[in-house]
Amino acid sequence: MIHHFIGGAKFNDVGSHQHTAVNPATGESIGQIPLDSLVAADRAVAAAASAFPAWSETPVGDRIQHLFRFKSILESNAKDLAAILVQEHGKTTAEALGSVRRGIDCIEHACAAPVLMMGRTLPQIAVSSSFCRTKEEGGVGIDSVVDRLPLGVCLGITPFNFPIMVPLWMWPMAVACGNTFVLKPSEKDPQSTVRVVELAHEAGLPAGVLNLVHGGVEVASALIRDPRVCAVSFVGSTRAGAEIYASAASAGKRVQCMAGAKNHSIIMPDAMRDAAVEGIIGSAFGNSGQRCLAGSTVVCVGDSAEWMVPRLVDAARAIRVSAGSDAGCAMGPMQDADGFARVIAAIESGQSDGAQLLLDGRALKLPTNGFFVGPSIFDHVTPEMSLARNEIFGPVLSIMRARDLDDAVAMVNKSEYGNMAVIFTDSGHAARRFERTVQAGMIGVNVGVPAPMAAFPFAGWKRSFFGDLHTNGEDGVRFFTKSRVTVRRWI
Ligand code: NAD
Repeated sequence: MIHHFIGGAKFNDVGSHQHTAVNPATGESIGQIPLDSLVAADRAVAAAASAFPAWSETPVGDRIQHLFRFKSILESNAKDLAAILVQEHGKTTAEALGSVRRGIDCIEHACAAPVLMMGRTLPQIAVSSSFCRTKEEGGVGIDSVVDRLPLGVCLGITPFNFPIMVPLWMWPMAVACGNTFVLKPSEKDPQSTVRVVELAHEAGLPAGVLNLVHGGVEVASALIRDPRVCAVSFVGSTRAGAEIYASAASAGKRVQCMAGAKNHSIIMPDAMRDAAVEGIIGSAFGNSGQRCLAGSTVVCVGDSAEWMVPRLVDAARAIRVSAGSDAGCAMGPMQDADGFARVIAAIESGQSDGAQLLLDGRALKLPTNGFFVGPSIFDHVTPEMSLARNEIFGPVLSIMRARDLDDAVAMVNKSEYGNMAVIFTDSGHAARRFERTVQAGMIGVNVGVPAPMAAFPFAGWKRSFFGDLHTNGEDGVRFFTKSRVTVRRWI
């Protein structure tokens, strides 16, 4: 049984239902995750609430010392953590190590909290003429100050696809800013998340500042409703994000929900061909397509399809699919049986909608155990097909065709999602027009995956995001602090 981590120690309460986590490369069971322990949820919030007064009064310079130590510990444990990710998620070792590194970037950013959460001041914003001692003194000066203060107990609810990196988007910045935190990771693969929380405590993080509770929807909902929780940061599907945004906001809580996606890559006829093919293959099939920034739809403009389509099919067919722990593996399995079934259903829907299946991931030579499906590519996908509209979250690439750039951008903007979009072109004019007209929160020029580094905000538009302040960057600091203005007059 995988334990909760509450008040600085392991806590065991299994509840009445458990999820069996399996190694997606073998199908073998690797642990039982408690799904409905409301006892653990209550304890975690209580531990965070009781740690808040002392932690929020600890000077920020002292708070971040724990994060400096934690960063070094994570760096020295990166390989072990990556091995857990490979086992519970199915990532390749390179993908797993990369995601640990991107998590560490967030800790480094949070270490800048003494600067990032500084307030602002404007002395002598006004002069009051009453209470002057002498006429020569001319009045009593008034100064204004804005401080950024911690909120209290913050909650993080995270998805299965990056069990180390996504929690690190949230809690290091939250605790650096003086909050305490309850983390509810995905019930599908939380073992690496637990290990990271343990390492944070080996770095000396005081008991109760960071607490981890396992569970499914029931536990998540109880945590969101808990009146001691004042802010909710969520990353996951649009269905859950919309629901959580509505319930947390109506309870008067601060909330940000980074949600699902359907991302597009526009290929102009003048694109640098090698860079475009490499960028799209990495974007569509990296992490087996289980990324919110997966470029799952290519829009070929003009005659670019003539060279692009055959090159994409050749490159995708050459991807070596095997267990992530194998040397030379370029793509691992889907994380679980549901993900596998979702991909098979998407391929079937593409065929029945009349798209042309150029590469069938079901028909490739694959390991026989586990949830393996190879890369698939469909051509002549049209905007009304399910392949173009719905997030698949698996290694299925759809190709659409557009007359010109405006036609391509119109196709992209039809999507209900707006997480990311990229363009491959050699033309500054085309790139600029794309930047000015495309509707997405994270966009790229000649890059396959425009993932912002930790110092920049990360989130989409439209139904890819619910809230006001994005995660990471300056938005992350603002999300985890509230501002207060003080007007001072010394008479
Ligand atoms: P999910 O929505 O099924 O689950 C995410 C988390 O929310 C889990 O911890 C789950 O237990 C919890 N949850 C699920 N339904 C809930 C509900 N109704 N109320 C409260 N909590 C609930 O998502 P997933 O399958 O784990 O992750 C894949 C999704 O996450 C994809 O849609 C992907 O695009 C998205 N994602 C988005 C980003 C982003 O930055 N926009 C990043 C990573 C993943």
